[in-house]
Amino acid sequence: MVNVILLGPPGAGKGTQAKRLVDERGMVQLSTGDMLREARTSGTAMGRRVAEVMDRGELVTDDIVIGLIAEKLAQGAKGGFIFDGFPRTLPQADALGDLLEKMDQGLDAVIEMQVDDAALVARVSGRYTCGQCGEVYHDQTRPTKVDGVCDACGSHDLRRRADDNADALRTRLMEYYKKTSPLIGYYYAKGQLAPVDGLAEIDAVGAAIAKILDKS
Ligand code: AMP
Repeated sequence: MVNVILLGPPGAGKGTQAKRLVDERGMVQLSTGDMLREARTSGTAMGRRVAEVMDRGELVTDDIVIGLIAEKLAQGAKGGFIFDGFPRTLPQADALGDLLEKMDQGLDAVIEMQVDDAALVARVSGRYTCGQCGEVYHDQTRPTKVDGVCDACGSHDLRRRADDNADALRTRLMEYYKKTSPLIGYYYAKGQLAPVDGLAEIDAVGAAIAKILDKS
């Protein structure tokens, strides 16, 4: 069993690679972005506050996301956890370390997915996902085989994210550089950081990640 963090800016391919690990290794994906998108549809006051912050491209507060993760960790995962989009701040990283320690577990690897800004803009602006199974598509590089129908599950529920626009993306990138990129140094110092070229083909990135996980 391995626990792994996928670390990288928006559009680096974290969600795509997390889905592969779920399919290939039976791991459990914990995406705080997905959990928050679910929470915002709940119609509660918290959901509405979260929606505003997300649509601007800013980070929601540490307490909220740490609470969400703590709940999911308590449910356990035989194949291990993939942390996708969490932690995004140093306090979140400390909290994750504490939560895992309490379960007598640790982190086996922190995969840093390296991609340059120009590629991120192109990736994020063409992106859409299946609302039912979470499969990720792209207008230019990976369209569905049949227009409007998910290749993976046949659903017609294909969605674009409200925060995948130029303004919100700029803010999301700045949030990443200011608050999340310090985690690169944090995990490097712990000897857990493993960089991967996120610009390579999806299969090549998957193979690089598999190699790291098999060593850990
Ligand atoms: P993502 O789907 O990972 O790109 O996340 C979408 C949005 O959800 C982010 O731009 C933030 O507003 C919020 N979010 C997701 N994960 C976190 C986190 N760990 N900490 C704070 N905000 C988060």
